[in-house]
Amino acid sequence: MKDLTGQISTLESLNKDLIKASKLLRLISETSNVAYLCYSYEDNTIDTIANWDYFFDCKVETHEDLPKLYEYVEVKYVLPLKDALFVEKRGMKSATADFKMKDSRMWVEIETNVIYDEEGRPQDKIIRFTDVTKFNMQNDESNYITYCDPLTGLYNRNYFINLLVQFVCRSDYKDKTVSVMFLDLDDFRKLGDDIGIYGSDEYIKLFGQFLSGLSNENVLVSHFNADIFCIGIYDPCGERSVETIYNKISERLKEPFVLSDGKKVSLTLTVGVAEYPIAASDTLELINCAEIVMFRAKAGNKGSIKYFEKSILDDFLQNVTIENKLKEAVFSQNFMMYFQPQYKTSDNKLRGVEALIRWKDKSDKIIRPDVFIPIAEKNGAIVPIGSWVIEESIRIYAGWRKKYDYPMLVSLNVSAIQYKQKDFIDNLMSILNKYCISPDEIELEITETILIDDFKEITAKLKELRDIGIKISMDDFGTGYSSLSYLKGLPVDTLKIDKSFIDTVTTDENSRIITETIVYMVKKLGLESIAEGVETKEQYDFLKSIECDNIQGFYFGKPMPPEKIEKLIEESIAG
Ligand code: C2E
Ligand code: CA
Ligand code: CA
Repeated sequence: MKDLTGQISTLESLNKDLIKASKLLRLISETSNVAYLCYSYEDNTIDTIANWDYFFDCKVETHEDLPKLYEYVEVKYVLPLKDALFVEKRGMKSATADFKMKDSRMWVEIETNVIYDEEGRPQDKIIRFTDVTKFNMQNDESNYITYCDPLTGLYNRNYFINLLVQFVCRSDYKDKTVSVMFLDLDDFRKLGDDIGIYGSDEYIKLFGQFLSGLSNENVLVSHFNADIFCIGIYDPCGERSVETIYNKISERLKEPFVLSDGKKVSLTLTVGVAEYPIAASDTLELINCAEIVMFRAKAGNKGSIKYFEKSILDDFLQNVTIENKLKEAVFSQNFMMYFQPQYKTSDNKLRGVEALIRWKDKSDKIIRPDVFIPIAEKNGAIVPIGSWVIEESIRIYAGWRKKYDYPMLVSLNVSAIQYKQKDFIDNLMSILNKYCISPDEIELEITETILIDDFKEITAKLKELRDIGIKISMDDFGTGYSSLSYLKGLPVDTLKIDKSFIDTVTTDENSRIITETIVYMVKKLGLESIAEGVETKEQYDFLKSIECDNIQGFYFGKPMPPEKIEKLIEESIAG
């Protein structure tokens, strides 16, 4: 009996200790910044323990309840959270993620561990939630910079790629597609010239904020740099999501963004779209592909969207081949110069010739200059090619000058990179001296795009050239940005009206009016006009009637080898 009483009192005191210990344990766990979620696959039940209420005020009782937690998380962290919560779907044992709670400063780290049986079936899953705000606050800035672009708050390129990899994995597993939209704002550099770097930054910020409103757990939005954005879409229903998103963006861009100084800015956007797994076999390739498609869209129609087609990739690869061939060809003399005559409308005599390069590759295939010149401009080969064009054209012209007393103009196409060469003017002058040609027999053609790159530097060079006596001609006028009033301040003597106007000048009222206005204004500004791409008598008659000064085009002569030009010179001399 005594024994029993003793045992009971020992048990009572043990029980007291136990209650005290468990109270203490509960107190500790309930006041700590940790919570656990334990899931049993066997009976699909969930226990939440420790300080659950600290994080969530919802009940989670079965596996199907887990998505309730997304509601508590900032939208951009939903995807990493989801991947960590459902780690067993990818056959993994553990996963971690950091996320930020919605409308709060709290950062939470979660760690998920899955226990599998011998046959690889998941048995139990434990998820630990820890408040890491204090720690993360210290690293807040560096964290932010690791994941986000500071200007727009959107994902940066690296983190975007990371998340896109997860989309791609998920689509492999579920047999779905992932689309990438590569977005590039049109004429953004020009905007920088107009409103300065702060203004254009503000525009990017506003546009980025608008785009961030399109993000959700299936749509990732990222700012790569400058005017380039990228959107990744986990797309269970094919291209339609791309279309919907594109329509939303286009709709928004119809209205200008208003900057803090009240300026209204409207830009257009060009978009390239590629889809995994049709266009590419991995994430980086997918982004590259969308970028290539975007470039193609830009070359055709700015402000448009283009979807991946195999031919676009083939063309691109062909260009890469051309680039390689170009490297071999630069010094192997496969180039030759052709010349296209330009005639004065006043007396139908030769005004001059435009020098146009021709390139036959090793297999005698002609590669068009508008295909290889842009590639040569990109890889720098344009510098030696351009020098060759200048010397060869002047050499040939000097031959004509020796033979005939008929001074004309030789128009040379010169790229921006050539102008930027320090010794460009010195080299040109020494060639002129070598062949005894006067600077006023040379005309350099520039395009408007040349001025966008480095307006001040290039206009300074152009002024210098003009002071020497060399003429400057604005090529492809009407296809770029320049307005006639803007021409007034530029060191330009001649203006070439682009072929696209001439093509429709006899059929389209607008082209007719624009051309007439340009010719009239050019005269008022004291410049000379040339119509390019004149192919028919009707076009010629019209241009003569509005007193366009000069004509160039197939109607009078295609680009031809130098010997043929000699015949034309003889005709002009004969009158
Ligand atoms: P561009 O400077 O606008 O040259 C005019 C182009 O229009 C030439 O094409 C010419 O053959 C073509 N053309 C002239 N009249 C007519 C016509 O009546 N109808 C049609 N359909 N076309 C006409 P090409 O020779 O193929 O040159 C294309 C472009 O390549 C040039 O455009 C120019 O931007 C560039 N390029 C050519 N040679 C050189 C060069 O030596 N250096 C540089 N930097 N670029 C060059
Ligand atoms: Ca030209
Ligand atoms: Ca042209």
